[in-house]
Amino acid sequence: MAAEVDLNPVVLVRVSSKRHREVKLIECPFCRKKHTHGIPPGVEGPDIGHRVAHCATADLPLALRHVSRGYHLRLESRSILI
Ligand SMILES: [Zn+2]
Repeated sequence: MAAEVDLNPVVLVRVSSKRHREVKLIECPFCRKKHTHGIPPGVEGPDIGHRVAHCATADLPLALRHVSRGYHLRLESRSILI
């Protein structure tokens, strides 16, 4: 039996621009880079919502490449949006 892979983990983010309402991942669980995502108006955190990961799926096992990867963004405790 294949190991379970969490395709939508919760990841911590920090505010990268309050003016542009953007947050940056502390570390992408799939590629280990720091992707930036926008925050819709009205969302104040700590739960920012689900996003599709910016990174390609080429590094995934072949059987998982058809699955779009994403994550649930959560502000780390010391980040504030306003
Ligand atoms: Zn990534």
